[in-house]
Amino acid sequence: MRAISHVVTRPGRRLGDPAVDIPVPQDFATVPGIPQHSKDVDFYSREYPLQRQQVEHAADTEWAPSVGTPEMQHYHHEHQAVMEPFYGLMNTSGNLEPTGTPTGEDVTELIKAKARELGYLDVGITAHDRRYVYEDRRQHVKFTHAICLALEQDFNDTQSAPSMDAEHGHYGTYEVQAPLGLEMADYIRSLGYHAQVHGPSNHSAATIPMFVQAGLGQLGANGQLLTPHAGARCRLQIITTDAPVTYDQPIDYGFHALCQTCQVCVDRCPGRALGREKIWWRGVEKNKLTYKRCRPVMVRYEGCAICMKVCPVNRYGAKAVMEHYLETGQVLGKGTHGLEGYTLHPESTGKYATGYFGPGELPVFNVEFFDIPHGTREQATLNSYIKILANEPPDAVPAESDAVLQAFRNRLRSIVKGEAVSDSTMF
Ligand code: SF4
Ligand code: SF4
Repeated sequence: MRAISHVVTRPGRRLGDPAVDIPVPQDFATVPGIPQHSKDVDFYSREYPLQRQQVEHAADTEWAPSVGTPEMQHYHHEHQAVMEPFYGLMNTSGNLEPTGTPTGEDVTELIKAKARELGYLDVGITAHDRRYVYEDRRQHVKFTHAICLALEQDFNDTQSAPSMDAEHGHYGTYEVQAPLGLEMADYIRSLGYHAQVHGPSNHSAATIPMFVQAGLGQLGANGQLLTPHAGARCRLQIITTDAPVTYDQPIDYGFHALCQTCQVCVDRCPGRALGREKIWWRGVEKNKLTYKRCRPVMVRYEGCAICMKVCPVNRYGAKAVMEHYLETGQVLGKGTHGLEGYTLHPESTGKYATGYFGPGELPVFNVEFFDIPHGTREQATLNSYIKILANEPPDAVPAESDAVLQAFRNRLRSIVKGEAVSDSTMF
C-alpha cells in the first residue's frame, strides 16, 4: 500500500448521497489547483488577451460544416434552432433587475443548495477573474463573483465516442443547461441580487481556470477540467452575480501529477494533439493541446472526444482511480480494450481511416488531412484573396481582378463594421 498525502472530501454525486472521501497518493501530491506564475498570467492577459474560439479560429469554424458528415450537419441545424432563443436570453440576463429584497446575509449555501436541487453535479464559487475574459466580451461581464456550475454529460453516450450518440450527449447537455442556468439566475434575483448567465457555448471567459480556483477539479492532460466524480464529462457554465457569497478554495485532487503517470489520452489521441510533457503557457504549467492537430479530427469524426472517453477519471471516478493506484501502483484500466478502445466511423470524404483501434493502435493520416483553414475572419479573407491572385492567369482581365478586389473589400468591411460572431461553438 502506497502512502496517502491527504484526503479530499466532496459532496456525493447526487443530492442526498453521502460525501465521498478521495485519498490522494503521496506520489500525486503537488499544489492546490494548478502551478502558476500570477504575474505571467497578468502579462499575457494584458498583452495577448484571450479570444473566443469563434473569433480566433473563425476560418476553420466556417470550413468545418463542409466536411462534417450529413448526420452531423443535420444535427447542427437542429441544435442551433433549440439554442438560438436561449442565447438571446442568456446574453441579456445581466440587465434584469432583482425581484426579491436583499437581506445582506451571505447566500452561498442557498445558491449551492438550489444548484444541487436543479441537478448540477457540482457547484463552487470564486472571483470572476477578468484575466480570463475574452477580449470582445470585456464590456459584457457585469458582476464580480463567479458561480461555477458543472452539469454531467451522459456516461453511456460519452463512452460511445466518437459517435452521433456522443454528440447528442454533448450538445443535448447544453440544451438542458441553458434553461437551468436561466432558472438559477431567476432564483438569485428572487434573493434580491443581480445574476448574469455565461454559457453553455456563449461563454464570456475561459471557464476552466475559474472552476479550478473554485475547487471543482484540476486541469487534465486532455486540456479539460477533471472533476472528481465524472472526470472531463462535465459541461461548464458560469453565473456572475453581486450577491454576498463566500469563495471556495482550489484543491489538490492529485490529477496534475496523475496525468504524467497515466498518459492514456495522450497515447490514444488520433491526431497526436496532446503534449506528453507539461510546459509553461500563459503563466500556467500544463500539458498543451495543439489545436491544429485536434480540430481536423474533431470535425471529421463526430466531435472525436476520445480524450474524454478514455480518461480513467471519467470512466471510474477519482476515488476508484486513486484507491487502485494506492493498492497496485497502476492506473486503473490502462492498457485495456474497455478503457482505451474506440471506433472511427466513416467520415464524409471516404478518404481517411475508419474501424476499431485497440490499445497501442492508432490511425495514420497524411499531411492533407491536417491542411485546414487557419486564423481569424480577417486572416481567412486575406488568405482567400492571396490564393486567387496566386492562381490568376498571367493575362487576367483587369475587370475580373477588380471584381475580386471588390469582394475582398466588401467582406473585410462587413467584418470591420461589426458582423456578428456566432454564439455557438458547434463544429
Ligand atoms: S478531441 Fe480527439 S483529436 Fe482532439 S485532443 Fe481529444 S482525442 Fe485528440
Ligand atoms: S486520460 Fe489520464 S492523462 Fe489524460 S486527462 Fe485523464 S488522467 Fe490525465
